[in-house]
Amino acid sequence: MQAVVPLRSRSSPAFVRRRADRVRAVLRARYPEVRPQLLHRSPFELLIATILSAQCTDRQVNRVTPALFRELPGPRDFASAPLSRIEALVRSTGFYRNKARNLKACCRALLAGHGGEVPRTLEELVRLPGVGRKTANVVLGAAFGVPGIVVDTHVARISRRLGLTVHRDPRRIEQDLMAIVPRREWSAFSLRLVFFGRETCTARRPRCPECPLGSICPYVGKTPADSALPAPQALRGRRKAPATTLPRGGGSVRGATRRTG
Ligand code: SF4
Repeated sequence: MQAVVPLRSRSSPAFVRRRADRVRAVLRARYPEVRPQLLHRSPFELLIATILSAQCTDRQVNRVTPALFRELPGPRDFASAPLSRIEALVRSTGFYRNKARNLKACCRALLAGHGGEVPRTLEELVRLPGVGRKTANVVLGAAFGVPGIVVDTHVARISRRLGLTVHRDPRRIEQDLMAIVPRREWSAFSLRLVFFGRETCTARRPRCPECPLGSICPYVGKTPADSALPAPQALRGRRKAPATTLPRGGGSVRGATRRTG
């Protein structure tokens, strides 16, 4: 039987650290080897691919980058290419005008300030156009082996659900995780949370009944063990709800289904 922990001490630094240790151990066992999913052959390609991955899936970025790097293999090529050409090449990653402008400006800054090379420090990276802490930490971790906590939407959501942070601001979340995860694991821990967020602790309907962290997770919105509801996104595509799922007097398909659960 589990020991009863007084409520007040459940948010103490020592308790949170112990929970983080458990999370790390479980996720390490589940995802022993982790690597960024963005295809790249150099720090430069990783930098460009990571900028493109904002608001876009890694899979889609991987579809776009082979042709992009065939036509524009280095910073000089991006810097001299017409903006409209870069836009056309990255269009399918979304927000393409903004991204194309940032890519061009970033490559110009690489040429002007770094001899065309990708810098190896966070301070220098975040000064490049289109590069925030998230992108900088991805590049540092995967291209140069410099550990960094990467706070994307999965990392932010799961860290809050697991009570590893109470913050929403990525910078504060990053600081909280840096304090409870050993430095050498920063990059790998971030990636493990991302994989876990895609597979299990999803945004809309986390798979709590099958979650290996269920016994230590304090998230109040946990999916109940007997939940057999289809995910909301699966319902959205349906044209017509089966008559049996509608509540008396009508109602939305989503509302009706919730009731029957
Ligand atoms: S129990 Fe649910 S909310 Fe908690 S970590 Fe697991 S999937 Fe996420």
